[in-house]
Amino acid sequence: MNPQKWKTPVSADTEALKPLKTTRLTKRPRTGNRPMVTMLLGDETKTPVRVLLDSGCTTPIISAELVAKIGIRCYRHEKPLQIRAFDGTVVQGAGNDFTPPLKLRHRAHYTKEVFQVATLELSSDILLPYWWISEHPPQGAWDSNEIRFSSPHCLRNCTKSSTEKFSME
Ligand SMILES: [Zn+2]
Repeated sequence: MNPQKWKTPVSADTEALKPLKTTRLTKRPRTGNRPMVTMLLGDETKTPVRVLLDSGCTTPIISAELVAKIGIRCYRHEKPLQIRAFDGTVVQGAGNDFTPPLKLRHRAHYTKEVFQVATLELSSDILLPYWWISEHPPQGAWDSNEIRFSSPHCLRNCTKSSTEKFSME
């Protein structure tokens, strides 16, 4: 284990953003391993991304470095969000931009999410909030390759065709 990589968890204040999804739960204390899962991001060009589940953030966050690397076109907030680390400090260079809905795939499980862009000092590309885990409860061991998003709800709703039907506009 490398405890260093969990050093600077980032959280985001979504007050200014009309939520696309209801944030039922924000954070909860968590100890022990933080589960990291590799998923695929995007439509045609699928990029493997390291996703930190249950990160303590309140909104999905994507690394600015990854956004630049794969050339995701982002939108700019009229009024920047304040993205805060857990110590309350505002993360510089965060909260200005957000992505269009991006497809996030794990095996046969598909979702689409809007991500806030932030400079992540973690060894992860994407942070998912607790409400995401709540909607997509992982089956099996969180910290192994055996993790699956295969709840009855997910099997019914989080399919490839569901992400293709989904539209923001
Ligand atoms: Zn699901």
